[in-house]
Amino acid sequence: MQNAYQIAVFPGDGIGPEITAPTVEILQSLADAAPDYALHFAEAPAGAGHYRDTGTALPASSLALARASDAILLSAMGLPDVRYPDGTEITPQIDLRMELSLFAGVRPVTLRPGQPGPLTLPPGKTIDFVLIRESTEGLFFTKGRGEVTNTEARETLRITRDTSEKLFRFAFDLAARRKASGRGKGRVTCVDKANVFRAFAFFRKIFEEEAARHPDLTADHAYVDAMALWMVQRPWDFDVLVTENMFGDILSDLGAGLMGGLGMAPSADIGLDHAVFQPCHGTAPDIAGQGLANPFAMLLSAAMMLDWLGDKHDNDGLRRDGNRLRQAVEQVIAEGAALTRDLGGTAGTRAAADAVARALSLP
Ligand code: ATP
Repeated sequence: MQNAYQIAVFPGDGIGPEITAPTVEILQSLADAAPDYALHFAEAPAGAGHYRDTGTALPASSLALARASDAILLSAMGLPDVRYPDGTEITPQIDLRMELSLFAGVRPVTLRPGQPGPLTLPPGKTIDFVLIRESTEGLFFTKGRGEVTNTEARETLRITRDTSEKLFRFAFDLAARRKASGRGKGRVTCVDKANVFRAFAFFRKIFEEEAARHPDLTADHAYVDAMALWMVQRPWDFDVLVTENMFGDILSDLGAGLMGGLGMAPSADIGLDHAVFQPCHGTAPDIAGQGLANPFAMLLSAAMMLDWLGDKHDNDGLRRDGNRLRQAVEQVIAEGAALTRDLGGTAGTRAAADAVARALSLP
């Protein structure tokens, strides 16, 4: 079949395999029923468990599979008691971002009326913005290579023109697409600390250069500390936020909190050629193996994967099913009958995923 796409699947550690299985089943059922595309899944071992068993966290064969695939679906990796000899965590998902130059970490933050969350939405307001976290440099540049002596420790924050240009182009293009679809205000906000660090003044200058190419969009700035406040006080005002790696790491958990928890927050790490789709949460070792994990963030990440593949290959069937999957998750949340414990319900992983399959009228 011409429109057949290979998906590399990293089931990962902890709750990873538990949320991966129903997600792949739903994707497979959607594809089986679709006349206009096919999906083939290939499993790629990697993670802390794999490191413990084999001494390698991200085998070359798994990396090669990821490179050769049309998209990568990843759950979560890392286990608190499995560490590299220097004490740092096993994070092949971060290595993948570096290896595949996935510079744009896309974190949609949405809260609609009826969705359980910590904020009461004012009448007529919904939260619907996208946080873009640069994912290959910033303060993660020296990850695993920081200099530590008895008296001092150093990490390096690196901002390059090349990556920043690609990042801002991506952010403005996304804002333009959201505006054209009636979903966004056409606003891009650069989140930085340009008042204190020269590196962020440089970051902001490159942002302004890209902004000048988009007179039809609004471009503005915010300091990261102020943004943490505004994300809580008036999150409905924002559209596309773009920021450095570490700031984005922190703000994306705040975004997940606005959505009602980590179990709700999807994400994508996107480069020019490859993309990884992965929930924002980690491996949740405290509930692993008990069938309690919320599969919604993983399912929403899978919906983002279908959207991205659909746009990349101009395939309406993939875009249609991406929308259907997202709407099915939103429907199950709004109905409130099949919510997992983290959302105040009693359903297990399987029951929550089955409710989504039923909302999609899948067998
Ligand atoms: P990482 O550093 O890898 O992001 P973490 O240790 O910060 O991981 P998580 O593993 O995401 O965090 O877990 C944080 C809390 O959120 C835990 O109490 C965990 O049980 C809960 N949690 C995370 N993901 C889910 C999920 N899908 N369903 C239910 N609870 C979850």
